[in-house]
Amino acid sequence: FDLSEPLVITATGGRKGGAGTQVYSPDAADLQSALDQDQFFAMYQPKISCFSGDLVGFEALMRWNHSQHGFIPPDRFIASAENTGMIDALTERMLDISLSWFAPRYARSSVRLSINLSARSRLDDAFVDKLLARCTEAGVPADQLIFELTETSAMEDPVASLDLLTRMRMKGFHLSIDDLGTGFSSLLQLVRLPFSELKVDKSFVITAASSSESRQVIQAIVSLGQSLGIQSTAEGVEDAQTLQFLREIGCNFAQGFHIARPMEQDAAANWTHFTLQ
Ligand code: C2E
Ligand code: MG
Ligand code: MG
Ligand code: MG
Repeated sequence: FDLSEPLVITATGGRKGGAGTQVYSPDAADLQSALDQDQFFAMYQPKISCFSGDLVGFEALMRWNHSQHGFIPPDRFIASAENTGMIDALTERMLDISLSWFAPRYARSSVRLSINLSARSRLDDAFVDKLLARCTEAGVPADQLIFELTETSAMEDPVASLDLLTRMRMKGFHLSIDDLGTGFSSLLQLVRLPFSELKVDKSFVITAASSSESRQVIQAIVSLGQSLGIQSTAEGVEDAQTLQFLREIGCNFAQGFHIARPMEQDAAANWTHFTLQ
């Protein structure tokens, strides 16, 4: 089935009263055993230039192939990983998995690799140094990596985020604000963080063709980026009109099912560009 779509996990047994579906909620031991058994893998979704259709990068999206529960999407386990302190181990694993795919094909090219980062990441130099060491080992310059942090998680603790993000930026990594428009951030605090990409949340982009409010929000975010000298990406581009609209307003990059779904490593490696109509 389609691994790019969210999936409801129904747990059997252990139910008390009522015939409800339960959502599988992994604990630290489950996540550790999944790491030990190599059950995590990545799907890669291309990102293109809105103007040329050329491939500019891939976003690595984590998947869990669970021995009993099947394929579990990240929305079902990232929060548990954050709450149990396992998130750093998962981030490091994702970096290892995706670098071993990315490095032999794209190292020292103009194609970049985006990795989602959690705000609950350990806030010390050792963590950032570890990420950098992984890149150096793989022969991928830090400049080719983009770490995405959601608006909500970046603003949970803006001071801690500023500290972490500044240290990451100083190592050469690029940083992106993911799901922009869904939080209620102080723009003033947000623009003080050293981001190099604004990523418009898919809720606006998916509805752009049918909603002028959505188009206005997208346009406002892209203009903000332009006035700050920060490039914008729209995620969730599901139709040709939306891609056309993004070109008209000067949005730099696009990602979405209309362009390409997240793909397994071999299919992603064969993906080269999108033909604009
Ligand atoms: P995200 O980083 O905002 O990723 C975009 C999500 O939208 C992905 O869902 C992707 O499959 C989906 N998507 C892409 N294009 C379209 C489209 O055109 N239409 C629609 N309806 N959806 C689209 P996915 O893979 O289920 O990931 C969900 C979230 O889980 C991600 O949102 C990210 O916040 C988190 N996540 C994924 N991998 C990781 C990871 O390695 N580490 C961390 N910390 N979080 C991760
Ligand atoms: Mg993302
Ligand atoms: Mg997003
Ligand atoms: Mg999201």
